[in-house]
Amino acid sequence: MKTIPVILLTLLFPFCTRGETSFTDIVLLNSYHPTFKWTADITSGVLEEFSDAGKYRVFVEYMDSKRFQNKAYIEQLREVYQHKYSSAEIDGIIISDNNAFDFFLRYGDRIWGDVPVAFCGNNNIRNYKIDTTRFKGINEHINIDSTLHLIKQLHPNLDELIVISDSTVSGKIFSNQFIETVTTKHPDLKYRMLRAKSPEQLTFELKNICSDHKVIYLLSLYIQRNGIPREMIQESGLFHNNCRAPIYSNWDFLFGDFIVGGVVVRGCDQGREAARIMKKMLQGNANMPWLTPSPEKLMLDYRQLNKNGINYSALTPKAILLNKPENPFERFQQELIIVTSILAFLLIIILILLRVISQKRKAEKQLMQSENRLEMALEGANEGLWDVDFLTGDVFLSQRFAQLLKYNNPNEIGFNTSTYATLFHHNDQQQVCETFQMHKNGHAQMFHCEARLRTKPGDYIWFLIHGKITERDESQNPLRMVGTITEIQSQKEFEQQLKEAKEKAEESDRLKSAFLANMSHEIRTPMNAILGFTELMATEASPQNDNRTYLEMIKNSGENLLNIINDIIDISKIESGQLQIKKETFDLHNLLGNIRNICINLMQQKKKSGIEFMVKYGIDDDNFFINADPYRLQQILLNLLTNAIKFTEKGYIQIQYSIKDQKTLMFEVKDTGQGIDPKHKNIIFERFRQVDESSVKRFGGTGLGLAITKSLITMMKGQIWFESKPGQGSTFFFTLPCEFKTLKAGVHF
Ligand code: ADP
Repeated sequence: MKTIPVILLTLLFPFCTRGETSFTDIVLLNSYHPTFKWTADITSGVLEEFSDAGKYRVFVEYMDSKRFQNKAYIEQLREVYQHKYSSAEIDGIIISDNNAFDFFLRYGDRIWGDVPVAFCGNNNIRNYKIDTTRFKGINEHINIDSTLHLIKQLHPNLDELIVISDSTVSGKIFSNQFIETVTTKHPDLKYRMLRAKSPEQLTFELKNICSDHKVIYLLSLYIQRNGIPREMIQESGLFHNNCRAPIYSNWDFLFGDFIVGGVVVRGCDQGREAARIMKKMLQGNANMPWLTPSPEKLMLDYRQLNKNGINYSALTPKAILLNKPENPFERFQQELIIVTSILAFLLIIILILLRVISQKRKAEKQLMQSENRLEMALEGANEGLWDVDFLTGDVFLSQRFAQLLKYNNPNEIGFNTSTYATLFHHNDQQQVCETFQMHKNGHAQMFHCEARLRTKPGDYIWFLIHGKITERDESQNPLRMVGTITEIQSQKEFEQQLKEAKEKAEESDRLKSAFLANMSHEIRTPMNAILGFTELMATEASPQNDNRTYLEMIKNSGENLLNIINDIIDISKIESGQLQIKKETFDLHNLLGNIRNICINLMQQKKKSGIEFMVKYGIDDDNFFINADPYRLQQILLNLLTNAIKFTEKGYIQIQYSIKDQKTLMFEVKDTGQGIDPKHKNIIFERFRQVDESSVKRFGGTGLGLAITKSLITMMKGQIWFESKPGQGSTFFFTLPCEFKTLKAGVHF
């Protein structure tokens, strides 16, 4: 029977050789069995600390000494371990609790050799005589003092503390430790030791704890049931069923069910710390103290606190709170902080972006407003805007620009830096180019010129163009140029009219000067004649016949002078608006007869008797009465006829009238004289104008005759024109609106 477990363990033992991989092999020798929570926690702490894959191997042994304590069992265990580890090289031993420690001290060196030892869970360790350079570990010290402080804090009205312990080695050690602590540090504390030997006794005792102000301190409880020792946790039912007082303890394996709290020694902390000590010993850290204080934690059970109505708010927040309903906010506190931080960060970014966007919108609005203002200002000033980008060749033209050139929109114009010349009138292109060059080279601060621009229909309009280069590159080449165009068509036309009027005024001035010179000559000639002949008659005893001739000459000269003066008076009257048309009814045929006599007489005087003079009547009657100004009609006809006589040397001169309509007569004065060049068609009716100023010397005249004639006809609401062929003669026509009487049509007055 003895050999079976030995063989089984040997077969099941996982290692035989180390193989090629070099591991550090550790044995964890536990006093108790794996389902004992204290032992299980120590084991998990050790394994966790040695969890570096591929470096450590931990072989866990459970002596199960709570249940099996007789000598024979221990002897068998020794045999098993000796056999099991005979071929293994163990680098270190970790021992948990006193039974295993005692076992090791007796058999350890034989089984595992002289290896370093780390221990935990050992009570009374200071009483062992050990080599503290080889044995190092945790002092399993339960903090009774701190636990008593905790109890006092949570139960300020405490009447009595009932301390439960037992007569195991550990129980005795803890009881002594408690008494010593109370004596030295809590002398005022009322307590009672309760050492129950059976469940029945404990049940009885627990039931008798009635007062509300009593508290139980569970130090140790190993009691027998049916002869089998029971663990503390297995007796929790006793407390559940029989006790209403809150229970405190220092063992974490009791927590979670019926313990309210305590400053606890945790199995996992012990195991982890023992493993760390082992690691340091294997690394040769000799300065380490042989005894390390036991790690401890303040633990409270939320459920038990509430069940007993204990206010724990004044406690340090470092307490571990068991069984607290999970608060999702606390559970995900870190995640929540991260998410909240991210959200806050995003919110800040969004706020910044919103601010940036709102500022941008504000700026855009302001820009739009200023653009609108500019557009309105340009609109008001009737100006079009242009903006040239010399890098891209793009040209921006405003809507107004397009409208000024009679386009619907700027895109229709299709204008860029390479096609700009086509927009200008070809006569203006060079000037525009030169002006731009002046500005580009810095000789002019602004680009400023007047030019004609082609409109959509194809005609050209005058514009005033202003511009300025607003950006230049390092070599001073233009990058951008901005400017306006203003329509100045009507201004240009006005300027042209002014120019023409000025030229006309100058011409008129020149003509007046010429007229004055003519007048001087015209007046001086008859005056000289008058004075000359008068002197002859006064100084010489000239014959009677000569005197008569002289008087004749003086009379002619006087008449010429009078004509000239009359012309001057007439034109002055016309110009000053003083000349008036005086209508009366008279016999046109009679008037034409008089004119005929005057002309024949004149022709005789001018020795032009070879010319035939003819009068043609439009009405075949002796009399033809019309209602008009006879004096001015005679003046008109004589002006035309004297010219005809003046410029005709042979042939004939003919005067005729006809009835154009029932209220208009039309007159014609025709001659076969030198005629008038068509190019002088427009000037002969102008004042002081003569076709050829040299003719003045030949024919005399003031150049006022036709101007007076035209003015008189215009005043009579008629019109005058002429037809002529140079060398063949001229015919002057004029109409005379007037009332008249004919036989056929009856009286029209
Ligand atoms: P003037 O008194 O100098 O003749 P007018 O006004 O009567 O001035 O005539 C202007 C000019 O018109 C004349 O100088 C002449 O050159 C031209 N002219 C007028 N009538 C005739 C005509 N019948 N034949 C040729 N030339 C004429």
